[in-house]
Amino acid sequence: MLHFIDVILPIPLQKAFTYHITEAESKFLAPGMRVAVPFGKSKVYTALVYSIHKNPPTAYEAKTIHQILDDTPVITPNQLKHWDWIATYYMCSLGEVMRAAMPNAFLLESETIISRNEKNTIETSELKDEEYLIYEALQHQSSLKINDVVSILDKKRVLPIINGLVKKGVLNLQEELYEKYTPKLVRYVKLHHNHKSQEKLQALLKELSRAPKQREVVLTLFTMEASLKQPIKVSDLAERSGASTSIIKTLIDKAILEEYHIQVDRVQFDGEGDADAKHLSDAQQEAYQQIEAVFKDKSVALLHGVTSSGKTEIYVQLIQNQLNTGKQVLYLLPEIALTTQLVNRLQDYFGDKVAVFHSRYSGNERVEVWQNMLLNTEKAQVIIGARSSLLLPFKNLGLIIVDEEHESSYKQFDPAPRYHARDAAIVLAHMFQAKTLLGSATPSLESYFNASQGKYGLVELNTRYNNVLMPDIELVDLADKYKRKRMKGHFSDRLIEEMTETLEEGFQIILFQNRRGFSPIIECTTCGTSPQCPNCDVSLTYHQYRDQLRCHYCGYNSAMQKSCQACGNATLDTKGFGTEQIEEEVKVLFPEKKVARMDLDTTRGKYGFDKIINSFEQREIDILVGTQMLTKGLDFRFVKLVGIMNADNLLNFPDFRAHERSYQLMAQVSGRAGRTDLRGKVLIQTYNPHHNILQQVSTNSYKEMYAEQMNERYNYKYPPIYRLIKITFKHKDYNRVNLAADWYAKSLRQLFKTNVLGPEFPPVSRIRNLYHKNVLVKIPQKQSLVKTKEAIQKIDNSFNAIKDFRPVRVVINVDNY
Ligand code: ADP
Ligand code: ZN
Repeated sequence: MLHFIDVILPIPLQKAFTYHITEAESKFLAPGMRVAVPFGKSKVYTALVYSIHKNPPTAYEAKTIHQILDDTPVITPNQLKHWDWIATYYMCSLGEVMRAAMPNAFLLESETIISRNEKNTIETSELKDEEYLIYEALQHQSSLKINDVVSILDKKRVLPIINGLVKKGVLNLQEELYEKYTPKLVRYVKLHHNHKSQEKLQALLKELSRAPKQREVVLTLFTMEASLKQPIKVSDLAERSGASTSIIKTLIDKAILEEYHIQVDRVQFDGEGDADAKHLSDAQQEAYQQIEAVFKDKSVALLHGVTSSGKTEIYVQLIQNQLNTGKQVLYLLPEIALTTQLVNRLQDYFGDKVAVFHSRYSGNERVEVWQNMLLNTEKAQVIIGARSSLLLPFKNLGLIIVDEEHESSYKQFDPAPRYHARDAAIVLAHMFQAKTLLGSATPSLESYFNASQGKYGLVELNTRYNNVLMPDIELVDLADKYKRKRMKGHFSDRLIEEMTETLEEGFQIILFQNRRGFSPIIECTTCGTSPQCPNCDVSLTYHQYRDQLRCHYCGYNSAMQKSCQACGNATLDTKGFGTEQIEEEVKVLFPEKKVARMDLDTTRGKYGFDKIINSFEQREIDILVGTQMLTKGLDFRFVKLVGIMNADNLLNFPDFRAHERSYQLMAQVSGRAGRTDLRGKVLIQTYNPHHNILQQVSTNSYKEMYAEQMNERYNYKYPPIYRLIKITFKHKDYNRVNLAADWYAKSLRQLFKTNVLGPEFPPVSRIRNLYHKNVLVKIPQKQSLVKTKEAIQKIDNSFNAIKDFRPVRVVINVDNY
């Protein structure tokens, strides 16, 4: 009797691949274990056992496996089931899902590079012979490929040996190594508690009368404490009192002052910070109970709570409940990079039970989380992560929270699997009979639609925590301001007035501009030519800081031109503006204030985000200029004013969701204003102050926006009424893309008639030298999604059978929005 396994290989193969195994191996193996297998001429892959059976493949001779790599499965049955769903629903291969899910360290392959772990000193006597050979080879060269090891040891099955050496800390697998972030420690001072009483204070000042410099420092500290009502930094005290830091040090040594450090990102200025769960307000309590009630008969609840309504505290309650019954919670966030704030908040409550799954973590750290989850240890009870954390080995999931569920970054665009984490979360929860809570101040139309249809339960929270009023939103008519010459650069007189007042009161400001760089278009005023990217069909953006022209699609850059390349005249002018230009103008308008910028260009470093967010929290920055990165659920306490520099380029974006997204972005960025006590103020500058979306943002009328947009979706047959599958064709040859897309569209039209749109070039039709063309399939509610996909798959197979078309890359994107 012959035995076989089907395995998943980490490559985009549509079908499972079959290998031959021995009877003994068939008894030992189980789905979810890894095996090393040969593939193609010389490759070795780590593959995952999918099933064990007795049916030889018909189309090829099954090879034997090299080696079994695990004693027990590293993937759970539920995971495999969920991956299967993702692969089927999003029309990709299981291998692609596996690639997205598993840490690289789990997937050794022949191309993997190994190097010596410099951190550890190795007792060579503890190494076995073969291990020593590898170790020795790495004394002479810095890295080896797996295939090199194969020849060094003169045997094929080397992966277990390498795995063993990695475990012993002798080797590193090649991956980018990430520095660990040590949060900045800020030094603060206060009066030593020995001197707190009135009498002791008098005595102290008397005593210090012989040391006037020291006395001056103490008095300055009092003044500062009284006026600032926030922790006093050593550096600030030194500056204000004019004393040297050594004098302050003397006072600390004499136990007159007390030094302390604040390491957490949040400054707890009221000094009462306790990590016990906060008492929910009445409104929060009610929302919480409604969620619990919804969960009695529905598996998904949508919490629509305005910005700063205290949704996080409600989540904390719900998490606690799950932990009490021994269940795991997954807390999904749109972008893990922006989450230090939240992680700190949750760690305050749940301590070590919180595990963060971070795509920027090193392989080893990710493996650690994975192992903790497989073993369902104490450390893996509350998992915080971005979309890929859905793919982890949950054991006992009770609840998934999808925070900021409207965020577009929940959808993966490239590479496959092109899944939407919110939707895949609901499916995952279902497999565990767990619940899903979607939370947002500005729900996506899909989710609100599902709630209004009764598919999800709906819970609304309309007041801000502490009864702070929603920010006062004012629309500023740019056309009018320009006409009456009330503009300085891109700032209206109203914005400057409000900024001046806010700064005088000691509060902070956020300015939002959804474009980075200095200026998106450079144009010659003589001949009208603007410099284009040589690889993409798009104008180059001017970045003043580096005096460069850059392409935002492919990264191409060149030095800024002094004169027009077409006509030679030095009449280059800039059109439009980005964050850099705003930052520049603010510096001129408020030269004595500290300005910083948060966009892709300033946050590139590993912890770029955290650094900016930290200094803004610590009030080292007065005015923060940024792109939509600023909108994602950040909680700053001292921001009173938000300025949206130009609403129009959001509204005019060519996409059926542009209006919905504009509403969400503006409502979210506005929500950063006035989060603690005082009502915040928002100014939106626009040429279209009567635009419905702007009216709706300024009156906080989500439901009106929803009704109006839904109307459009009905009329124009867009989601959530119809579903969409977008098919993109890419090739460097313009004609070939056209022919391929035409052929495909024609085949689709035979089946789906008028529900096929295109082929059409997107606004940027060439990226990295590849032409792009899109076909859109609209799927009415009554039409079977499964059958539609089967039909598309068939067409795709025929397409790939045509030799001329085979080199054209076809990307199928299900629910491409
Ligand atoms: P949302 O996520 O809805 O925007 P948050 O949960 O961030 O709102 O809450 C806004 C602010 O109010 C936070 O600073 C939070 O610490 C505070 N807050 C919310 N609920 C409570 C509560 N019950 N007790 C004390 N502070 C709270
Ligand atoms: Zn380019």
